[in-house]
Amino acid sequence: MKTLNDFNFNNKKAIIRVDFNVPLDENFNVTDATRIEAAKPTIDKILNDGGSVILMSHLGRPKGVEEKYSLKHIVAKTEEVLGKKVTFVDDCIGDKVAATVAAMQAGDVVLLENLRFHAEEEKGDVAFAEKLSKLGDIYVNDAFGTAHRAHASTTIIAQFFSDKKCFGYLLAKEIESINKVLNDSVKPVTAILGGSKVSSKITIIENILDKVNHMIIGGGMTFTFVKALGGKIGNSICEDDKLDLAIEILKKAKEKGVQIHLPIDVVAADTFANDANTQVVDVNHIPDGWQGLDAGPKSLEIFKRIILDSKTILWNGPLGVFEMESFAKGTIQLGEFIAESTEKGAFSLVGGGDSVAAVKQFGLEDKMSYVSTGGGAMLEMLEGKTLPGIAAILE
Ligand code: AMP
Repeated sequence: MKTLNDFNFNNKKAIIRVDFNVPLDENFNVTDATRIEAAKPTIDKILNDGGSVILMSHLGRPKGVEEKYSLKHIVAKTEEVLGKKVTFVDDCIGDKVAATVAAMQAGDVVLLENLRFHAEEEKGDVAFAEKLSKLGDIYVNDAFGTAHRAHASTTIIAQFFSDKKCFGYLLAKEIESINKVLNDSVKPVTAILGGSKVSSKITIIENILDKVNHMIIGGGMTFTFVKALGGKIGNSICEDDKLDLAIEILKKAKEKGVQIHLPIDVVAADTFANDANTQVVDVNHIPDGWQGLDAGPKSLEIFKRIILDSKTILWNGPLGVFEMESFAKGTIQLGEFIAESTEKGAFSLVGGGDSVAAVKQFGLEDKMSYVSTGGGAMLEMLEGKTLPGIAAILE
């Protein structure tokens, strides 16, 4: 796997696909610069080598040129993060861009306008990708968040660089982390899968059954399994058309020697609301009219033991409706158990939308070994797919 360290960028222009798709407020101020900060090590390495960088990204989902999605809004924040002047060009291809890039000196940083102002970007247009490729000597992909898309700047462009292409530090770290969990793992390996639906996690479950020793299944998915096994789930969320699938998963897990752990008790509520009446009940005997919205204390005790005994931990999806304070406890405690296990030396990877939001919200981000930056891309990797953006660098 080629990374930045295999190249010396002295007097080279690197064209870097970054993910600067950052949130903006109504006055176009960047409200969270995490993604810009995440690309800084890659940019710094190239500049410190004596190279220059051309940054390209998308922002939002514009339909053609829409001012509100212009990357000009993030120039000031990028300058602040990098501690350097950033020259913005109001297009990503064309004469003006070519002239600006031709005038670049070592140490310069140029930011191109939103790639998605050209429909060719998302279409993966080869001619458009070739035009972008002309701007740099070396292509660096550091945008994990879009690595599952075969867009011009994330994938197609790579073919114009033969061996002059590599992953940036951020993307390399994502690949390394997932490898540590799925391929090169230290056993015992525990995966915790939560969230609302079995149907959205089934491909992940099937892919990782071969790679883990324990699988904790929580969140709304619990109840499809519990019902399939004959339990009474009251009004809890359930996919009735997935009952056979749930049994099938349990059977497969058994054959492969994977231990599946479902909650044994839950916090049940009489309505789906933060101020609902609640009671802790046996997961198999949820009263009519009540619904399970979080894992209960006995379940958490069991999960804690498993997690503290694990050497590798993957967490995807909350254990309950963590957006409501009354049902966040299971997810918070789970995060704390993983943090404790990580401190004891386990490798922990948190990936995929809601669990990432949860660890950030509960201040546990720094206590995990790695928190993935790409929602959809991470889910596809967990499903065992080869991401086009990664394959294009390796080809
Ligand atoms: P997903 O997008 O599939 O990862 O699901 C995340 C969502 O699952 C979150 O918004 C949670 O509120 C929701 N969730 C977790 N546990 C439950 C539950 N017991 N009942 C209903 N929704 C749940």
